[in-house]
Amino acid sequence: MKLRIDRQGCVGNARCHAVSAELFPLDEDGYIAVEEIEVPPGMEELARRGVRACPERVIQIVEE
Ligand code: SF4
Repeated sequence: MKLRIDRQGCVGNARCHAVSAELFPLDEDGYIAVEEIEVPPGMEELARRGVRACPERVIQIVEE
């Protein structure tokens, strides 16, 4: 499973990071630090929760 993130739309509220700090790393200013996330096996449900947690809808599932 792969996620893609539109970092320009991130507002830095860390909702994704609260779901999983491992999957959704933040930069030093509190914004999402990556543009693409390869979800490790077994973390798919956590990844989906992170996608749903983002109120800006900038995290997309690009590959199941
Ligand atoms: S939940 Fe969305 S807006 Fe908030 S830090 Fe994560 S990617 Fe950015």
